[in-house]
Amino acid sequence: MSHLMNTYARLPVAFTHGEGVWLFDETGKRYLDGLSGIAVSTLGHNHPRLVRAIAGQAAKVLHTSNIYRIPLQEELSDRLAAVSGMDEVFFCNSGCEANEAAIKLARFHGHRKGIEQPAIVVMENAFHGRTLATLSATGNRKTQAGFEPLVSGFLRVPYKDIGAIRTVGEHNHNIVAVMLEMIQGEGGVNIADETFQRDLRALCDERGWLLICDEVQCGMGRTGSWFGFQQGGVTPDVMTLAKGLGSGVPIGACVTSGRAAGLFGPGNHGSTFGGNPLACAAGLETLATIEDDGLMANAVKVGEAIRTGLQEALAGLSGVVDIRGRGLMIGIELDRPCGDLVRQALDAGLLINVTADRVIRLLPALVFTEANAQELVSRLAPLVRKHLE
Ligand SMILES: *Cc1c(COP(=O)(O)O)cnc(C)c1O
Repeated sequence: MSHLMNTYARLPVAFTHGEGVWLFDETGKRYLDGLSGIAVSTLGHNHPRLVRAIAGQAAKVLHTSNIYRIPLQEELSDRLAAVSGMDEVFFCNSGCEANEAAIKLARFHGHRKGIEQPAIVVMENAFHGRTLATLSATGNRKTQAGFEPLVSGFLRVPYKDIGAIRTVGEHNHNIVAVMLEMIQGEGGVNIADETFQRDLRALCDERGWLLICDEVQCGMGRTGSWFGFQQGGVTPDVMTLAKGLGSGVPIGACVTSGRAAGLFGPGNHGSTFGGNPLACAAGLETLATIEDDGLMANAVKVGEAIRTGLQEALAGLSGVVDIRGRGLMIGIELDRPCGDLVRQALDAGLLINVTADRVIRLLPALVFTEANAQELVSRLAPLVRKHLE
C-alpha cells in the first residue's frame, strides 16, 4: 500500500488519459465522463485550445509572485468583471480559499461599520469547503464532527426560506452578510428560484448586508448563464469561483462589487500561488472558449436532453422523486439511498456521483453533445431502474 493519507473513499480505477468527454483507464477501457472531476473540467479533457494555452504559457513563465504585476491576472480580472457585472477580483487556488476571502471580507466590512462581533447567515445543507471557517459555514454535521471548536459567527437558516432570514435579522444586530449557493451542489442540487433570489437581494439592500454567492460549483457557464445568480437577475456583492474556472488547472477567485469593492488594502489578504501566470492563462482560455463555442447555450440544450431523456426512460418508476437541474448541473433524487450506483455505473463505463445520500448528480463538461446525452441516459437509466425494482 502507498503512504497516502486515508482521506478519500476512492473507487478502484485510475485513468491514464482523456479525450473530450471520455476517460481511459489502465486497461484501455473507456468511460463517459458525466462528472468532470466534480464540475472542474469545463472544456472536457485535452481540449486543444486549453492544451495550447497552457503549454505556451509554461514555455514562457509559470510563476513570478504577487510582489510583481501579473498582466494575465489583470486581463482575467477584466474578463470576470465584464461577464459578472462586478468590479474587483482577488485570485486564489481553490473554492475554500475563495470563500475564506469572502468571509474575511464580510467581517472586515462589519468592523468598518463598528460591528465588533460580525455574523454571517448561512444555509442548511450548504457546502463551502473544508478549512476551519468554511467547514463551520457548511451545513453538514458530518463535515464538522471532530473538528470543534468551530469558527463562531455563523447563523444557520433553512435554505430558500426568506422569512427565516428576515426573522434571524430581527433578533441579531451583528449580521453583516448572507452567504449561499444559488444552486446547492453537495446538498443535492437544490435550486433557489428567481423570486427567492430577488427577495434576498432586496432584504440585503434593506438591511445593509452583503450578499455572498458561492458560485464555486454552479458558476462558469454550467447552468446556462455565466453565474447562477444571473438567472434571478440579481448581482451579489461578493461571489466566489474555483472548480470550472481553470478547466482543470487550480485557480479560485473572490469577486466583489458595490459596497464590498475597495475594502481590502495591501496587507489585508494574500496568496503565494494565487493567480499565477499559468492558472490565469487557463482561466482566460476557458472563458474565451465558452464564449467562442457557445457552450452556455449548449449546456442548456444538452442539459434539457439529459433531463427529458431520463424522464422518458424512468417514467412510471415511483422511486424517482424528482429530476431537476439547470443546464448541465443535474440531480436525480430517489426515495432511497443509492450510493451503490456509483460503482455500478463505473462498471458500465459511466462516471457519475451520488450526493446527499439519495441524489444522483451529473456535472458533465460543457462540450457534451446531444449524442453524449443519449449515451449517458442509455447507460444510467437501466441501473436506476434495477436499483428501484
Ligand atoms: C467544491 C466546493 C467548494 C470547495 O472547493 P475546494 O476547491 O474543494 O476548496 C466550495 N463551495 C462549493 C459550492 C463547492 O462545490
